[in-house]
Amino acid sequence: MFGSACVKVSLANYHTFGLQVYAARLLFPQNEAEVPTLAEQATYVIGEGSNILPTGNLPALLTTRGLLGFQILRESHTEVEVEVAAGENWDGWVRYALHRGWYGLENLAAIPGSVGAAAVQNIGAYGVELAPFLVSVYGWHKERKAWLTLPAEACALGYRTSIFQTPEWRDQFIITRLRLRLQRRFVPVLDYPDVAARINPKKQHDPWHLYQTVRRIRSEKLPNKGNAGSFFKNPLLGQTELARLRQKAPDVPAFPYGAESYKVPAAWLIDKLGLKGYRIGGAMVHPRQPLVLVNTGTATPQDVLALATYIQARVQEAWGIQLEPEVRLLHP
Ligand SMILES: Cc1cc2nc3c(=O)[nH]c(=O)nc-3n(C[C@H](O)[C@H](O)[C@H](O)COP(=O)(O)OP(=O)(O)OC[C@H]3O[C@@H](n4cnc5c(N)ncnc54)[C@H](O)[C@@H]3O)c2cc1C
Repeated sequence: MFGSACVKVSLANYHTFGLQVYAARLLFPQNEAEVPTLAEQATYVIGEGSNILPTGNLPALLTTRGLLGFQILRESHTEVEVEVAAGENWDGWVRYALHRGWYGLENLAAIPGSVGAAAVQNIGAYGVELAPFLVSVYGWHKERKAWLTLPAEACALGYRTSIFQTPEWRDQFIITRLRLRLQRRFVPVLDYPDVAARINPKKQHDPWHLYQTVRRIRSEKLPNKGNAGSFFKNPLLGQTELARLRQKAPDVPAFPYGAESYKVPAAWLIDKLGLKGYRIGGAMVHPRQPLVLVNTGTATPQDVLALATYIQARVQEAWGIQLEPEVRLLHP
């Protein structure tokens, strides 16, 4: 069967914000061979829509959901290299890897979305990122009309960023597979405060226990529907910028990130302004997670945009910091 296409389709089931929006067409390649032709007809590429904000009715979208499967490329007694199709569900893949005794991804349990998109923003949670496990990315470049393999070093992975977010690659490059290297020895990462509070490092040697613990922490914090996770990135500040912020907010938390940066929790900056539960129309700042904007059921894209803009303005005014969206805005 050649990949299907639906005309004027509701995006209700294709993004997690739950907004009443439509796409002119939705294109579903069923295998890699169908990607080049269908990609020509699409303006945007999506996976499962858990990190997008459609700001209105959209032009044609291609979703990678039909690209499934995986292949073991190399195995030794210490590690395994596997190529996973972009449309596989991320959490399903993490669980499968655990069943096979391939370790490393436990802290990334239950992150919504597809395997392909994991490389687009270098997903991360509870002290672990995708980056150290990524060997290479394979996909179709529309403009160059070529299948390309990018080694991880060429993907410019950083904090919630990659080359795939730059204008040259965004929506031009359709990721169809990730090559991942996983370990056969389980080495738990337990230092993140939420995890450390629940797991005793001296007793913990079970990868499933770690996986289930992360899952539980996540489900207690946030439902997977009606939002797109963290709406803003945590700002990365240099020494001087952090010192300037500390003049206004002496108790602001900051965590070293890389050699010269500090990650400042955007949630803290928003919370200090008393914005938890703040609403514009049907959009609201989550009452417990101020970094998350939620659709209370009646939000329009304009409500969410107005709320995001309001928060950015308040944070800029109070702390002199420009918050950058983590969520990808897709415009009509
Ligand atoms: C409740 C909730 C919690 C979350 N928690 C976390 C978290 O802890 N950590 C974290 O990092 N993220 C988190 N997120 C964000 C989200 O889960 C990730 O960004 C995820 O990788 C998005 O996958 P997706 O398939 O839904 O991508 P989409 O939302 O469909 O797309 C996201 C971006 O990737 C691009 N893209 C998608 N697939 C491809 C492809 N195959 N080729 C090229 N470009 C592509 C799109 O154009 C878009 O720019 C959370 C989201 C929700 C709703």
